[in-house]
Amino acid sequence: MRIRVANAIRQTGELFPFETAELFSDQVYGERNISFTEPVTVSGTYVYDGKAFTVSGKAEASISTECARCTKPFVERIAFSFSERFVKGEDEASDDETYPYSGDELLLDKAVLDNLFLEIPIASICREDCKGLCPVCGVDRNTTTCDCTIEEAEG
Ligand SMILES: [Zn+2]
Ligand SMILES: [Zn+2]
Repeated sequence: MRIRVANAIRQTGELFPFETAELFSDQVYGERNISFTEPVTVSGTYVYDGKAFTVSGKAEASISTECARCTKPFVERIAFSFSERFVKGEDEASDDETYPYSGDELLLDKAVLDNLFLEIPIASICREDCKGLCPVCGVDRNTTTCDCTIEEAEG
């Protein structure tokens, strides 16, 4: 996922719009294996301040995941906004706050993925009112009723 930014280098301080999409390969984040079901779309603006680029935008991703309650696989849509700075690679060793670039292209992959990972919930739920699996017999309580006695832990 790259954007060409030569125009912004010539016109410091001017905001330029961009739009891009790319189907990322599977990513590993912590214990999770993240696989994308369609291209991640990103749109926003970039501006050059004479030293660094600021890229701001919105992104949308669809990842295949598993419900933490009923274990059913489903596609979870994640939308987020971000704003990151890109500093020319040779200038300084990049720190955690910025991303390096070289030439007149910005490679957005890492910035987009870093922001996406922050948005991914620890436990994904297929729907708000998912009843989950019966802890006693294991049936999916969304589709099957069982006679188990469940001791609900309540406040
Ligand atoms: Zn569920
Ligand atoms: Zn049961």
